[in-house]
Amino acid sequence: MTTMQRQRDGSEETFDSRDPATDDVVGTYPVHTTEDVAESVERARRAADWWSALGYQQRAERLRLWKGIVTRRLDQLCEIVHAETGKPHSDAQLEITLAIEHLAWAAKNAKKILGAHRRPAGNLMANQAASVEHHPLGVVGVIGPWNYPVYTPLGSITYALAAGNAVVFKPSEFTPGVGKWLVDTFAEAVPEYPVLQLVTGYGDTGAALTRSGVDKIAFTGSTETGKKIMATAAENLTPVVIEAGGKDAMLVDADADLEAAADATVWGACSNAGQTCIGVERVYVHERVYDDFVSRVVDKSNGVRGGSDSDAEYGPMTMRSQLDVIRGHISDALARGGRAVVGGRDAVQEREVQPTVLVDVPEDSAAVQEETFGPTVTIARVPDMDEGVRRANNSRYGLGSTVFAKRRGMELARRLRTGQTAINAPLSFAGIASLPFGGVGDSGFGRIHGPEGLREFSRPKAIARQRFPMPVALTSFARSEKTDTLLAKFITILHGNR
Ligand code: NAD
Repeated sequence: MTTMQRQRDGSEETFDSRDPATDDVVGTYPVHTTEDVAESVERARRAADWWSALGYQQRAERLRLWKGIVTRRLDQLCEIVHAETGKPHSDAQLEITLAIEHLAWAAKNAKKILGAHRRPAGNLMANQAASVEHHPLGVVGVIGPWNYPVYTPLGSITYALAAGNAVVFKPSEFTPGVGKWLVDTFAEAVPEYPVLQLVTGYGDTGAALTRSGVDKIAFTGSTETGKKIMATAAENLTPVVIEAGGKDAMLVDADADLEAAADATVWGACSNAGQTCIGVERVYVHERVYDDFVSRVVDKSNGVRGGSDSDAEYGPMTMRSQLDVIRGHISDALARGGRAVVGGRDAVQEREVQPTVLVDVPEDSAAVQEETFGPTVTIARVPDMDEGVRRANNSRYGLGSTVFAKRRGMELARRLRTGQTAINAPLSFAGIASLPFGGVGDSGFGRIHGPEGLREFSRPKAIARQRFPMPVALTSFARSEKTDTLLAKFITILHGNR
């Protein structure tokens, strides 16, 4: 939750971040204005020159230093994540652990991926040495969400930093304390220049950053905001990477390990109170194992509870307004012939939502088509996996997906129109730092993580260096008729055969 105070005396406007379990104020932060953002970007320009000149080795050392600080103070960061989002300490730890893996990978691999590589010069230009290397963009603006306030923005920040950019980071208004902690600890490892800076505030501050002339915007958040960001970024032709919402599907084939698939469904749907962009929201199950699968999911869901006490498997909804969306999706599904085999309308409480499993829900209903972002899941029976693939792909989103199958796992995974697919384990791709992560359709475009994530925050620079002059000059007015004839013969020998 957040609240804003407007100051009448002209002093700085501020807002509070609040504990979603109690509404207690966790911290008070400035609402940064367009001028504040412009000053940060200006400072970042100088920092970027210094950081990029340090070179891969020294940058990697600094990033390793930061990694050590984050790791040693993991408990401290978990507490802030817990206070601002309501998620249990152990979930915060899992999220931060994955982020540390990515930080380590980006620091270690930046030089190998982005440094100079030789390319074949080809027959026509055999006298040239061709190479490509990736240069930093300059200043990257990162705009983050609240649901994974460490893992998600660091997926852009650490890769942008490892590629040699300075970063101005606008965390969600729900999690400014997490953002501040990350920026402060980075400054301990890199005290010389403000290579990673924080700006705080609401959407207007994010819009100011998008408009500020940064060299790229890395946005993670809802599809709706992603569209606004693209429109704003277009004013300056600022490139963007958009990591937006999802409506991830799981396929369960007849030969799947049903116990593992049921476990993955319940955890994938309910962990972090379902507030996971790659959470499992829809499941398509082969009719031969449907009843068995549903009864396992029901059993497991009954052992899971949302609450603010230490025994609860997940916490309250971070953003109170999401309660209405979830209630709306459940009510609509039930009104249109769906059945709740676990939970239902009453599962939506004052702060928490209890696990809800819906069956027989029409495919065109909101619970199947729109991002619910709550601990709910729909399960549908399909006659075969081809129908499962068709229904899974019938979505405007395409972020992640999961397949539980023995024989056809790889084949089904390839046919799903999503950026990433996990086979026989939930969300596993998110923990593999060498894999790219990103969406299709309304889930966005561009990639963070892995080599693709490093390249996303750099520009390729191609260099052709002449090693010796050609006996016949092609790129000169001195080119003769004889050269043209020779060239025509040469190209015919090379490419003229059918
Ligand atoms: P959101 O779109 O409401 O906000 C995200 C960020 O954008 C916040 O920092 C917000 O202040 C800022 N913002 C809002 N309006 C802006 C504007 N006009 N210009 C610039 N910035 C603006 O999203 P949220 O509620 O914080 O996060 C939840 C959403 O994020 C869900 O849809 C979820 O699926 C998605 N998400 C996606 C990924 C992914 O990797 N694809 C990861 C996590 C979350």
